Amino acid sequence: MRVLYERDGDVSIIRERVVAVVGYGSQGRAHAMNLRDSGVEVVIGLRPGPSFDAAMSDGFMPRSVPEAVSMADVAMLLTPDESMADVYAKAVRDNLRPGASVAFAHGFNVCYNQIPIGNGVGAFMAAPKAPGHMVRETYIAGWGTPHLVAAKPQCEHLRALAVSYAIANGGGAAGIIETTFVDETETDLFGEQAVLCGGLVELIRAGFDTLVSSGYEPELAYFECMHEMKLIVDVMNRGGVAALNESISNNAEYGEYVSGPRVIGTAVRSAMRRVLNDIRTGRYAKDFIMEGRSNSPTLTACRRAVGEHPIEAVGARLRSRMTCAHVA
Ligand code: NDP
Ligand code: MG
Ligand code: MG
Repeated sequence: MRVLYERDGDVSIIRERVVAVVGYGSQGRAHAMNLRDSGVEVVIGLRPGPSFDAAMSDGFMPRSVPEAVSMADVAMLLTPDESMADVYAKAVRDNLRPGASVAFAHGFNVCYNQIPIGNGVGAFMAAPKAPGHMVRETYIAGWGTPHLVAAKPQCEHLRALAVSYAIANGGGAAGIIETTFVDETETDLFGEQAVLCGGLVELIRAGFDTLVSSGYEPELAYFECMHEMKLIVDVMNRGGVAALNESISNNAEYGEYVSGPRVIGTAVRSAMRRVLNDIRTGRYAKDFIMEGRSNSPTLTACRRAVGEHPIEAVGARLRSRMTCAHVA
């Protein structure tokens, strides 16, 4: 597979267009600021509220969503996935200028047919593989964030526009992969559920709980299972598992080989396949859309429960006493 970098695209394509960034949350703020710093004309579309004030204090002059969309050549939709179809139908669709494109940072609503693309409306995706504040931080640092791009219909004009947008958002420094809305959506949902968010949080909690319930101090369990995670991941991020194995002791490396597959064994691997299957059949999407329509009962209950896990209290106490600001 060919991975694209700065020289493989033309940033001037997006610089010649006005981009409406709809929503100013995690991704919205990052895209708007990165595009502005890359010389793109950006207009923010929002409703009154906390994000509106944040955009103002970052030097933007936000407008209503219909107004922002009607001024733009590209409408990048960065509102929450569960209500995006509603925002599109009520405030975006009928305000698009002739020839304007709709853009996404995640393919969910296109993949699961919540936002129908066609009838002369072209769509592209520029999906960063990082949380919004890191999309901004890595842009400033010059490393950028990897992006996945896609176009629907798959024509050269939309493809080049997507790559140009991704470069302006910092993707050209880290790598841009051309894919489809479906492949981005399915791999993104799988990654966040099985590995990055769901899998990782449960792995850390399970390790912490095992130590604490066996009589070890929670502070010790926190440093072991949570704090050191970032340090280990940073080494792999720079040099892969090989670099990690070079930096850890022979003892830790031997333990990795003999105990790792016992923890992440066949049961976990088959659970991962079931998770992927629910994503591919649309079962997960159906549940998530229902969750959004019924006022997010699961999200609300689980958010409350997060703070009740003992790792949060001990972690907050330890981090507040660390001198290095970035871990506080
Ligand atoms: P956030 O929840 O952080 O932000 C949503 C923004 O949309 C807020 O500014 C909110 O404003 C605004 N908004 C909500 N409803 C409306 C509305 N009806 N009209 C106008 N504005 C509205 O979203 P994310 O940045 O997390 O997600 C945006 C997209 O980016 C999603 O498609 C997501 O999948 C994708 N993505 C997210 C990543 C992430 O790390 N967060 C990573 C990669 C992709 P208000 O303050 O008024 O509520
Ligand atoms: Mg993701
Ligand atoms: Mg995601």
